Amino acid sequence: MKNGPPKKYSDYPQIAFNSPSELRNYQVLTREVVRQNSERLISRSLPPQECIRVGTTGTTGASLKVAYSERVARRHWAFRMRQWAWAGVQTRTPRVTLFGSRVVPPEREEPPFWTHNYLERQTLMSIFHLSETNAPHYIDFLRRNQGKVLEGFPSVLAILADFVLRTGTTIPMRAVFTDGEPLYPFLRENIERAFGTTAFDLYGNTEYAGLLTQCEKGQMHAIPDYSYLEILDENDRPVKQGEEGFLVWTGFINDAMPLIRYRIGDRGCWESQQSCGCGRNFPVVRPTITRDSDTLRCPDGRLFSPRALNQSLKGATALRFCQLVHERPGHLLIRGVASQPSAYDDLMGIQKNLQKILGPSFTVTSTLVDAPIVRAGGKIPLIIQPAAA
Ligand SMILES: [Zn+2]
Repeated sequence: MKNGPPKKYSDYPQIAFNSPSELRNYQVLTREVVRQNSERLISRSLPPQECIRVGTTGTTGASLKVAYSERVARRHWAFRMRQWAWAGVQTRTPRVTLFGSRVVPPEREEPPFWTHNYLERQTLMSIFHLSETNAPHYIDFLRRNQGKVLEGFPSVLAILADFVLRTGTTIPMRAVFTDGEPLYPFLRENIERAFGTTAFDLYGNTEYAGLLTQCEKGQMHAIPDYSYLEILDENDRPVKQGEEGFLVWTGFINDAMPLIRYRIGDRGCWESQQSCGCGRNFPVVRPTITRDSDTLRCPDGRLFSPRALNQSLKGATALRFCQLVHERPGHLLIRGVASQPSAYDDLMGIQKNLQKILGPSFTVTSTLVDAPIVRAGGKIPLIIQPAAA
């Protein structure tokens, strides 16, 4: 907080502190509190025209509004480039990107399903047009771009990897960087096999509150110049090494919306073995984030990853949970659990967004319910795809 006295920052109490342990003078800030007070947490020292507001959905499908600025995004970029360096990849190496941007119109049936951002040497591929029919186009295009960096949501890259492996070949890429979802071992295995390289995972958040990046030895490191991490139990007490707790972040880079002791809802633990073969002294953390979800398999062969459909939830702030149930072929039911009276409007917004993504061959309906569908282990899936569909 070196840019000014604390009073310039939102509604935090003014507490002087000299060591990380004194951070405990601040209350832990839960995601729910941030959700209800997001405007009050925006820094008053930030010129309004520099403030970028976005929605973010967490593990539960409950959306909150967060703020950042271009400067914050640039700082974050520098940390991503540090991870590229760990992977031995130079900045400005051309890259192929499969995150959530809508880069081509939803109704397009013929290639191109991609577009170019020449200044950044970046090719953006649509994650909304993946289908059995379009698989050969995606494969051809990737083959023509082999040797570049590949980045995207794990579930999306896994769909692509599946397409590639089914052809009995591989498409060698420079390196793979994943972000936005857990990279489960079975996803990693297929991705690394299909693209003949190592996948480097990253755990970050739209709040720019905390960051874990995977090193070349496969360990997830907390990044101490990005944020200060505590792992706390339900009673806000530090957990022992190897014990699971809540990730609680004090971020250093987002001065547009500084979050102090922010319990984002995700869990993890300190690895018992803190030294890493890479030689870096950054703490080694094992995130235990499980974002259980199926892939939506449409009757016409289209495949939507949870992250592709997650996009449609972003504007909604009045829902505590939101789930998408593929009730029968071509029929999707949105189940929302309200946290505010305006939940119905949010639900209608989501329904409209999803109808646009899925097209006229799909019927999308929605309903408000009292509780989400919970699977074994307490997991709350975003997409529920019955085995029969
Ligand atoms: Zn390491």
